[in-house]
Amino acid sequence: MHELGVASEILDVALAEAGRHAAKKVTSIRLRVGVLRAIEPENLSFLFEHLARGTPAEGALLEIEEEPVRVECEACGVSEAPSFTVECPRCKGTGVLLTGGDSLSILSLDVDA
Ligand SMILES: [Zn+2]
Repeated sequence: MHELGVASEILDVALAEAGRHAAKKVTSIRLRVGVLRAIEPENLSFLFEHLARGTPAEGALLEIEEEPVRVECEACGVSEAPSFTVECPRCKGTGVLLTGGDSLSILSLDVDA
């Protein structure tokens, strides 16, 4: 299950951050996840909760912001699409370039000292 690896990576970063700030608890984590990553936010939260049990990140809230795919079309410019696509959402042309939609990053992290 691919969310499990992602959840454990997030936990590692969160715990390292908490350690750096000598924080007792991680209260929330904001993530930006590209739709091309095919991650189910609910699944990710569930796995994270499970992995974080007994660590300072136990009970931390995952706030997941989805990043849409950016579709660059020669005729229309940049549009956004909610999932992988091979055509422009506006003119249905296929001469498009997909940029973005594949990020996976922690935007911010709240800790309690
Ligand atoms: Zn177009």
